[in-house]
Amino acid sequence: MVRGLCIMLTVMLFQSIDAAAVLADMENFDRQRQQMVARQLRTRGIGSKRVLKAMRTVPRHLFVPEHLRDNAYADTPLPIGYGQTISQPYIVALMSEGLALEPGERVLEIGTGSGYQAAVLAEMGALVFSIEIDPQLGNRARTTLQQLEYETIRLKIGDGYRGWPEAAPFDAIIVTCAPEQIPEPLESQLAEGGRMVIPVGESLHQRLMLLTKQKGEIREQKIVDVRFVPMVDSHGKPY
Ligand code: SAH
Repeated sequence: MVRGLCIMLTVMLFQSIDAAAVLADMENFDRQRQQMVARQLRTRGIGSKRVLKAMRTVPRHLFVPEHLRDNAYADTPLPIGYGQTISQPYIVALMSEGLALEPGERVLEIGTGSGYQAAVLAEMGALVFSIEIDPQLGNRARTTLQQLEYETIRLKIGDGYRGWPEAAPFDAIIVTCAPEQIPEPLESQLAEGGRMVIPVGESLHQRLMLLTKQKGEIREQKIVDVRFVPMVDSHGKPY
């Protein structure tokens, strides 16, 4: 009887220490996230309330490998395994802002990676369609997004060069891997009035471009120079 009580008290003690540690971790990451938004995004001119709110909310540390969690809110891209990276927070914000999303709009993402960018778009109120060519990354992103209960994100494993014709047209398209030329299927799946943000060029010389479709015509505007992983086909050959 006394022994049973002791065991029960010990278990309760450990549970509360565990719970306290989890809570402290959450508060710590939350603080880092608010600082990331204030120091890396607002000071560099990200003004969209929707983007800032989304990036204040999405737990970026849950999208990076466990041993890199303490760096999740740093001003840098991070490896996510399989030779791929999650973009620097500022680039995620800049691309998201360029899409000028309204709640309920349909957005196509090429290059799901960790799923972080998709979560930011969902948090902005969009219905997200995201394609990842690497099945291991795609499946891991699916698990993460399910655990976080993002229900407005559809994932597909496949080659995003061809877009997602069955779900087109899209109000916005975001490409997070770089082809040398803008893929024609993506241009044609953009709705009238639609916006596309895409890095274009060879591995070391890419331009982040904003495309807008007006009366069937595409207008192009350069945003900034960037460095993304290449868009590849199913044999790993760059487009
Ligand atoms: N947006 C991601 C980061 C993407 S990194 C995030 O938030 O974490 C670029 C991703 O594009 C990689 O995961 C890579 O596997 C994927 N990719 C490369 N070529 C592709 C293609 N043709 N179709 C779909 N995904 C592709």
